[in-house]
Amino acid sequence: MNILVLNGGSGSLKCSLYRLDGEAPPDPFPPLWHGEADWTHYEGRAELRIASTAGAAVQEQIEIGDPIDVFAPLLESLWSGPARMLVGREEIEVAGHRVVHGGAEFREATRVTPRVRAALAEMAGLAPVHNRFQVEIIEAVERILGLSALQVAVFDTAFHSALEPAAYVYPGPYEWLSSGIRRYGFHGISYQYTSRRAAQLLGRDPNSLRLIICHLGRGCSLAAIRYGRAVDTTMGFTPMEGLMMGSRSGSVDPGVLLHLIKHDGYTADHLDDVLNRQSGLKGVSGLSSDMRQIVEAKDRGHARAQLAFDIFVHRVRTHIGAMLAVLGGMDALVFTAGIGENSPAVRAAVSSAFEFLGLKLDADKNAHAAADTDIAAADATVRVLMIRTQENWEIARECFRLASADPAPTSD
Ligand code: ADP
Repeated sequence: MNILVLNGGSGSLKCSLYRLDGEAPPDPFPPLWHGEADWTHYEGRAELRIASTAGAAVQEQIEIGDPIDVFAPLLESLWSGPARMLVGREEIEVAGHRVVHGGAEFREATRVTPRVRAALAEMAGLAPVHNRFQVEIIEAVERILGLSALQVAVFDTAFHSALEPAAYVYPGPYEWLSSGIRRYGFHGISYQYTSRRAAQLLGRDPNSLRLIICHLGRGCSLAAIRYGRAVDTTMGFTPMEGLMMGSRSGSVDPGVLLHLIKHDGYTADHLDDVLNRQSGLKGVSGLSSDMRQIVEAKDRGHARAQLAFDIFVHRVRTHIGAMLAVLGGMDALVFTAGIGENSPAVRAAVSSAFEFLGLKLDADKNAHAAADTDIAAADATVRVLMIRTQENWEIARECFRLASADPAPTSD
């Protein structure tokens, strides 16, 4: 089964083509073809990087008026150009989409029918940057691949649908809940993959494990997972709650927002810009939202980069503490996503707070080990794993599961 995965974010679109047949293998394998577009570096231009298993690679820049303009050139490179694959467009049976917000309605991967598409468009108010773009991609797939390809929406919120009310209801007026104002949690596709992978690496049954997973990328969150089910997470109604992030503040006292509105005349748009784009590592350091540059600058003695790093670590530690209390202990701490996978400095600083639990890193492994490794010291009583998250692979698996279980498309 040829499955095209489409993962559209706020600044990038990542597409992968997988072929899955028979039983979905437990271990991930690389896609046959992968195309990526990033439009965060230059105004009005996107950088395209395409590679196929045939070994050919393409890098180019294209002019765009809107993010969706990257889609057709990316997809068409599957059929023309040096990285083309011997897969005709009519041979792509399933297109699987990462959809950031599934609201309270979508609790698992779902076929995209006209009704589902309308519901997703309606939900764009909950995650304006992401959901609207993802609906545009669904429409573009239909235009290019036609109606015969099965389209599947895989939700970042779905993994957290197991949360209990105490974890997801906000302590505001009870009526908020019926208006959909509640905690949803995000990065669920990554948590679903990394929690399964953690159990596999530890040689344990997922139903016997208490995990705290730190997904630290451009967006950052934690999840507490008991026996395979999410019991708490740090992101909430939107991906702004919780940890400090690259350019997002994470949780701040809502009184600060009231103060800015009442005393400094802030509008909703201004607050949106400040909290989403001018805060976090970037806001505190005044330098960059990229942890690589923060670590480099702090090591050169830049005081605000040091402060940004310290706040970041402090907040990861305090939230891990909260997750520990909810879980009643942990068998393994997992680091994943851009920072979690690549920053020994962050992993070491976060982990050092938990030595009292018997959690201890092997310094050499932390500095040098490849992904999907246990980096805890041999005598540690809590394992520490570094896992490369594979969201596109997880989406492909979900599509395969859904399409194999019920291959007949519905028409509602
Ligand atoms: P996204 O959340 O968009 O999927 P990633 O998970 O790829 O992003 O994370 C991107 C972030 O990872 C970058 O903004 C950067 O801060 C961080 N990062 C990547 N490589 C390193 C590194 N070697 N050291 C520290 N941080 C890194």
